[in-house]
Amino acid sequence: MSPLLVWLRDDLRLSDNPALSAALAADATNTIVCFVFDEESEGIRPLGGATRWWLHHSLAKLGQAIEQLGGQLVLRSGPAENVIRALVAETGAEHVLWNRRYGQPERTIDAALKTWCGDNGIEATSYQANLLFEPWQITTGSGGPYKVFTPFWRACRDQPEPRTPLPAPERLEGPSLPSEDLASWGLLPTRPDWSAGLQEQWSPGEDGAGERLDEFLGGSVDGYAGNRDLPGVEGTSRLSPHLRFGEISPFQIWHASRAATNPSIAKDIQVFGSEVGWREFCWQLLYHNPDLATENYRRDFDGFAWQTPTPGELGAWQRGRTGYPLIDAGMRQLWDTGWMHNRVRMAAASFLIKNLMVDWRVGEQWFWDTLVDADPANNPANWQWVAGSGADASPYFRIFNPVTQSKKFDRDGTYLKHFVPELRAAGNVHEPWKDTEAPTGYPSPVVDLAETRERALSAYQDLRGG
Ligand code: FAD
Repeated sequence: MSPLLVWLRDDLRLSDNPALSAALAADATNTIVCFVFDEESEGIRPLGGATRWWLHHSLAKLGQAIEQLGGQLVLRSGPAENVIRALVAETGAEHVLWNRRYGQPERTIDAALKTWCGDNGIEATSYQANLLFEPWQITTGSGGPYKVFTPFWRACRDQPEPRTPLPAPERLEGPSLPSEDLASWGLLPTRPDWSAGLQEQWSPGEDGAGERLDEFLGGSVDGYAGNRDLPGVEGTSRLSPHLRFGEISPFQIWHASRAATNPSIAKDIQVFGSEVGWREFCWQLLYHNPDLATENYRRDFDGFAWQTPTPGELGAWQRGRTGYPLIDAGMRQLWDTGWMHNRVRMAAASFLIKNLMVDWRVGEQWFWDTLVDADPANNPANWQWVAGSGADASPYFRIFNPVTQSKKFDRDGTYLKHFVPELRAAGNVHEPWKDTEAPTGYPSPVVDLAETRERALSAYQDLRGG
């Protein structure tokens, strides 16, 4: 009997995994599960440091879980199409199964592989697993993609209920194959090893994802609609890196949320659902605009007069030493834990793009390297949202004031003091430069907010032709 070959990618889970379930339904004793580490295929964006760390641990956990079922996670590296073709030849597999990906380079690989399989009498089947709605499924009346979130999400909600999640397999066996050593891929940082803060904060893997969801739905979902804006409160799910690597599916989140029927949290569940909807929106944007990370969605931004940052200013932003407490707390949270609260992401991005007038792509790349949830769609779509160059974006002239933002959303300074210890004794935690004695070790503001705001607005006027 020839085995079935399941190729896992951004779907590092056993439960609610349609490709895996289909293979096991056909033959649970003769299924090979593989993962290909591919940094060579054309157009593939190499992972950043924080996602490399995550991937290592996620694969290690998945490998253990598969072994417990009697199987093996086969690890290979190289250009994915060649690697899968070689695995098919090596094992005599007659059927390859995978869950769909939506970035252009990945789709190109998958399409080429499907054609090769067809030409060689090998079955290839792909499944919907990582988005509730396929990006081509939700269209406007005229048949094009939505450019605005609210009608997009309304159209999604008018669709039939997303399918219920599939159970985890109880048995998964297959031939034993040579597998590369995960450690040899060098995904973990060594000199220096900066991962202590990440280890403390996160549990990569499917079990960690499930626990996070249960904890959220059993606790902080209550009040989510308001608390999600408060960086000093653990008021959001922190599921983003788990979703990024497909350790949990949006179908599982959707149905688990729907099961939380207490009327007092109905609004919270609805708002949470629409945040997951933003993820769907970002992915449909990437699907229809493959160069979302490199090109302005609104091409009229191509002539914007971005400034070349001085190393001092850029370094101050990257390492949380701008002298603006909210920006610094956020950038240090990112550096220390690989994650930043959404409201602070918006403020930090606005500061770089508007107060320092640096091209959004510079910030997008920094987040790509440092976020554990660095996502090919969510990251560029949100950076472009803040820049004003994106779809359904915040207008360029909306400039987040970091002082007003921190006074409003972190009134007592809990978040600021946690990530910026120099401010713990400050009298004026939101505007430490107003203290008669400046807090020891904390920098003065790198730029003047009012002046840089005027400069940004005037550059925007120039772009608009006066
Ligand atoms: P929750 O509030 O619990 O939301 C649940 C899920 O909904 C999230 O896990 C995420 O998958 C999705 N979601 C929430 N907000 C958004 C949003 N604005 N856009 C798209 N999906 C959303 N999110 C990423 O997952 N990866 C990124 O690389 C990323 N980069 C960002 C860059 C900037 C400049 C900004 C402003 C936002 C970015 N976001 C990104 C969106 C958002 O900040 C994170 O998804 C959120 O903070 C993750 O925390 P959570 O899981 O607790 O979110």
